[in-house]
Amino acid sequence: MTTFAAAVKPSVDLPHSAGRNFNFSAGPGVLPEEVLRQAQADTWNIGNSGIGIMEQSHRGKIFDKVLAEAEADCRKIANIPSNYKILFLTGGATTQNEMVPKNLLPDGGTAAFLTTGYWAEKTWEECKSHFPSSYEAWDGRTIKHAYCPADNELKWGTKPSYVHMCSNNTIYGTQFRNADGSWRYPSMPWNDVPLVCDMSSDIYSRPMDVSKFGLVYAGAQKNVGVAGTTLVIIREDLLDAHKKFGRKLFTMEAYATHAKGESRHNTPPSFPIYLSGLVFKWILAQGGLEAMHKRNEAKAKVIYDAIDGSKGFYKGHARPDSRSAMNILFKCPSAELDDKFLAEALKAGMDQLKGHRSTGGVRASVYNAMPRAGCEALASFMGEFARKNG
Ligand SMILES: *Cc1c(COP(=O)(O)O)cnc(C)c1O
Repeated sequence: MTTFAAAVKPSVDLPHSAGRNFNFSAGPGVLPEEVLRQAQADTWNIGNSGIGIMEQSHRGKIFDKVLAEAEADCRKIANIPSNYKILFLTGGATTQNEMVPKNLLPDGGTAAFLTTGYWAEKTWEECKSHFPSSYEAWDGRTIKHAYCPADNELKWGTKPSYVHMCSNNTIYGTQFRNADGSWRYPSMPWNDVPLVCDMSSDIYSRPMDVSKFGLVYAGAQKNVGVAGTTLVIIREDLLDAHKKFGRKLFTMEAYATHAKGESRHNTPPSFPIYLSGLVFKWILAQGGLEAMHKRNEAKAKVIYDAIDGSKGFYKGHARPDSRSAMNILFKCPSAELDDKFLAEALKAGMDQLKGHRSTGGVRASVYNAMPRAGCEALASFMGEFARKNG
């Protein structure tokens, strides 16, 4: 449908129009203006059909095309090999805490976890309660999730059916990364154990090698769309894992059902899928993952420089080598100053900067669609605020 042919060059900043605040929300997050405008038009009448996208039959020609293009563009962005299926499911990333073990873990089986943050804790705790022989190869609680572990810090036990990790810890602001921000893949002592990754808050923010993973999932509402669909990328041989160890799943619990039904065994979340499709086209038009990565690293640096240049006024949470390019956490010298910071930032047009209830402080989420101008506005506000209150 749309191609976003008039692509913004990565060297030129994203638009930020009057009437909109800079939205630093951790999720649902900021969307590209071009995507919102296209969605406005298609909500009324998509593809000259005389019917809006939300009113289209999920088995009609218009939606056929939306779904096929979303899938193809999603595959193209990350060069996803043909032996991986792309699924658009419901229930959020959280429902994957149930689907992954149900599909991949035999009764009494073992999965291993890298617990690097709030969401990874939830994933581990839920699995442990049903599969008690599972274990943590890394427990980041002891270091308050301030960094992601190096390979030599991982404590492996029995060979697991899969290893679970989370690439970017939305709530603590850490990320598995090399110094240049590229993907740092943890190494495992086995080469036939599938790596399962929760990429909810950094998928498609930087180049990735899908072949390193057995299964990747991401709630769309952070970097690739709106709440309502969860992207799952699964290696084909895992679709029938549950059959191999003899578990009988309910229809909707099985990845195989959704793969066979091309994500529409039942009525799919058609608008969220459509919206992700627009975001995929937008990412391609921006120059793909290399361009996203370059821009994201530069954007994050603007804010980290403001923390580092504040003579200790702002304290970051993440250890510098694990600093997330997506979610940036810092605290003012007191909780009162945090509150004042948030109130004054909002007056200056910067919204949703409050840290998660479990960490407090300030959190700036600067996903793909956050313009660099937003990061610069925040950094200059931080400088001024520190001067006045330091
Ligand atoms: C937001 C988030 C989740 C939870 O996603 P839901 O779609 O709300 O279930 C899980 N993992 C990570 C890393 C997240 O950022």
